[in-house]
Amino acid sequence: MRTSWRIFTIFDIQIRIDSSWILIFGLITWALAGRYFPSQYPHWPLLQYWLVGIIASLLLFSSVLAHEMTHSLVARSKGEEVRSITLFLFGGVAEISEEPETPAKEFIIALVGPLSSIIIAALFFGLWYGMQGINEPVAAMARYLAFINAILALFNMVPGFPLDGGRVLRAIAWRVTGNLKRATRIASVTGNVIAFLLIIFGIWQILRGFFFNGLWIALIGWFIHSAAERGYRQVLMKETLKDVRAKDLMDTAFETIDSSISVQELMEDHILKKKERSFLVTERGGLAGIVCLEDVKAVPPEKRMDTEVKKVMTPREKLEAVAPEADGNQVLAKLTSSGINQVPVVQGGEIKGLVCRTDILDFIHLRSDLGM
Ligand SMILES: [Zn+2]
Repeated sequence: MRTSWRIFTIFDIQIRIDSSWILIFGLITWALAGRYFPSQYPHWPLLQYWLVGIIASLLLFSSVLAHEMTHSLVARSKGEEVRSITLFLFGGVAEISEEPETPAKEFIIALVGPLSSIIIAALFFGLWYGMQGINEPVAAMARYLAFINAILALFNMVPGFPLDGGRVLRAIAWRVTGNLKRATRIASVTGNVIAFLLIIFGIWQILRGFFFNGLWIALIGWFIHSAAERGYRQVLMKETLKDVRAKDLMDTAFETIDSSISVQELMEDHILKKKERSFLVTERGGLAGIVCLEDVKAVPPEKRMDTEVKKVMTPREKLEAVAPEADGNQVLAKLTSSGINQVPVVQGGEIKGLVCRTDILDFIHLRSDLGM
């Protein structure tokens, strides 16, 4: 798991920065203050390069945030729930809770991001134009920000899913084919083709002696490629899990064990002998929690003898139940949002079965093994 920090909350949306942003922020400030501004304006005092460099970096950061904020606010006005925005290496990611349910919604939510970047670029262009000959540092900064926001808009319009341009392409393909999965495939393949061309072009530049330019282009190509693959896999997973119910995923033959037995005992007497992987844990006859194979695997072998099951189980108060008719995505969302390994399936106040993370993964693997 990557680390990110919450920096502030605005319009009820958490703004977070990924750890990679610290590095990028430093690099950009250094590139601006140490290279770019000195080469363009050689007569400035040293301190001014750094001051202007830091402010320009912060404004770049704000521009990326404004881009993501536009996606988020438009998504929210269309009825989507937006929890957080994380700013990372090449920009930002707005965590919009669901995939949009219509092509029209997706089209507009995706398109407003690059549009906002174009508007921001135009505003900085205007500022640069107005400040020429009046205030050189402000004009210099505005010129750089106009340029970088135009690049941001262009990069995001690359038609490879999950970039904005890819989402726009997907919305169009979705509208035409009526099939979200096929539309996503089309947008990912297009993204991969562009990524591949960029990598080839980057390598060609490196061979021609433009090492840093080439490396940069190839890196962007690689980034688009991996984003396209990851985006497609996520959609595939969501589509697969849409068709399965909690009652089909759950393990109904679960056994009841006492919370005071050791993890070692649980493994030897229950998991290995009876080939089961999820258990109800009781304490003095009442339900204390649930334990799954994942919880057991997380305990290092040398500690399994001395660790009691109650130490590794998901305790009763943290358990979140799902209904038998809940679909696979709802079950997975429960597991992810509460950071637990299992959910009980409850009907009429009675536990009917248990669903573990592995049950969901097994289901996905089985489906893809069978080519479904
Ligand atoms: Zn965007």
